[in-house]
Amino acid sequence: MPDFQGILESIYQDAIKANDKGTVATYIPELAHIDKNNFGIHLRTFDGNEYGIGDYNKPFSIQSISKVLALSKAMALVSETIWNRVDVEPSGHPFNQLALLEIENGIPRNPLINSGAIVIADILISNLKNPKEDFLSYVRDLTGDDTINYNKTVAHSEKMTGFKNYAAANLLKSFKNLKNPVEEVLDFYFHQCSIEMTCSQLTKAFYFLSNKGTCLLNKTRLTKTQAKRINAIMLTCGFYDEAGEFAFEVGLPGKSGVGGGIVALLPDHFVITTWSPGLNKKGNSKLGMLALEQFTTKTKLSVF
Ligand code: GLN
Repeated sequence: MPDFQGILESIYQDAIKANDKGTVATYIPELAHIDKNNFGIHLRTFDGNEYGIGDYNKPFSIQSISKVLALSKAMALVSETIWNRVDVEPSGHPFNQLALLEIENGIPRNPLINSGAIVIADILISNLKNPKEDFLSYVRDLTGDDTINYNKTVAHSEKMTGFKNYAAANLLKSFKNLKNPVEEVLDFYFHQCSIEMTCSQLTKAFYFLSNKGTCLLNKTRLTKTQAKRINAIMLTCGFYDEAGEFAFEVGLPGKSGVGGGIVALLPDHFVITTWSPGLNKKGNSKLGMLALEQFTTKTKLSVF
């Protein structure tokens, strides 16, 4: 068995010394204040052992990482009908790109780009009694932690500047791929993105995807096939126009967010979460990607 704690230590030492830590996202004004010197990693192996280093217990904005949790809830609720409204192809474009959506008649390329996640938000609103409360309970339940919450200041901040998401939602509406009002769908979407979690909470929350759909509390959340499908979508679409690079360098299904988090997993082996708020040009955590590349190289554990 690899010396996991030793490997995390050496990754951490390299990361804190890095000269270029990337750039913190500023297009959501509230995220611009985050110190890019934060750096945390948390790993949980299948035998239940946990390893952490740095700021792995500090909450951060999970942003697009929430899209995977929202997708899992929607799949549990409506199963295969999702795929009539969202495709499963990598977009090869930034997360907020609109051109393809217009060309492809309002069917988003996949559920992990913004337009696809907005359709998933619409599905959740149509199928949950109290969408925001119920989604938060789902995330708390997956993690086994009731302290997890929305950050309403971040949600409001994104609402004030989320012009491209408004454009995407309006385009979806014009193609009749949104059932609920644009305002309502985006309010839900901005809230889901504003959820704050720590690396160790995210590692717990994503356990069910590494465990054929059954979460840490031993509840079945998804079928084995559904868990497999989400992992396939994370591998091919989780990093937008850098999905190929992530598969090439790291070789794990995973998902990033503009808050600087990345969750990645190896089915039946482990879940790992990194947090480093500085992003690269494609909007993925710069040091998080480097750390995960080192992790799979040093442990020789990846899907390939
Ligand atoms: N809330 C962000 C947005 O919609 C999420 C983007 C991301 O994390 N990549 O722009």
